[in-house]
This record gives sequence, C-alpha cells and structure tokens, in this order.
Amino acid sequence: MWAFFDRDEHSRVAQSHERAERAGVRVAFSHPCFELWLLLHFMAGVPGAPTSKNVQDRLRAAHRAFRNYDKRLDTAPLAALNGGEADAVGRARSLITNCPSMACSAKQGHAADCKVLDRAPSTEVWRLLVELGVVPG
Ligand SMILES: [Zn+2]
Repeated sequence: MWAFFDRDEHSRVAQSHERAERAGVRVAFSHPCFELWLLLHFMAGVPGAPTSKNVQDRLRAAHRAFRNYDKRLDTAPLAALNGGEADAVGRARSLITNCPSMACSAKQGHAADCKVLDRAPSTEVWRLLVELGVVPG
C-alpha cells in the first residue's frame, strides 16, 4: 500500500509520514508539492525557491501542455509526460544528494534520520515506478 501526499501548507506532515511508515504504508512524499514530480519530466530541478507556487509556475512554463495547468491531468499533459519517466526518476534521485542529511544518497534514498520537512525540494514518486518495474532501479 502506498500513500501519496505533499507538503503544501499541511500541518502534522512529519507525524503523518511517520505514522504511515510505522503502519507499513510506503510513502511517496513530495516537498513542496506533487507538481515537482511532473516538473522533473522536463527539467532537472527548481530554479529559485522551492515553493509550491514556483514549482507550479515552472511547470506551466516548461511545456505548452501545462500552460493552463489547474491540478488536472487531461490528455495533453499526460501525453507530454509520457516517455519522460526515466529522466524524472533520475532527476528525483539526484535531488536527494542535496539533502541536509549527509546519509541520504541517490542510490539509497533518504536516510532514516533525514527529517521529512527538510527534504525540499524532493519527491519520492520515483520509488513507486521503480518498485513497479516501470523504470529500472
Ligand atoms: Zn534526505
């Protein structure tokens, strides 16, 4: 079982993350927002501050299919994403190397002592694609 959630402005993120993992739920957490995962299909990271607004603005500018993006993934945005999975996985893994915890790595992911709220920008959606075999690990 997987849970997808993102930072946004939610309170109790760390507690929710910990509770899910303790219950055996795999967590695909994105910080600051899920749209970071979509953006990584087109570019390597988030130039500037890792805020939700910045990520969503960058996504709208990254591909014309996302120009009017409003949280829905219709046919054109899905087509634009299709085929970019391996690049997005590689880019998401690369972001981990910027974690403040020195124990995090692109190969292993976030370390146990890496505080979830310190993981900005990052997204763990890649872990599900690797687990499903969509992208080789
Ligand atoms: Zn980390």
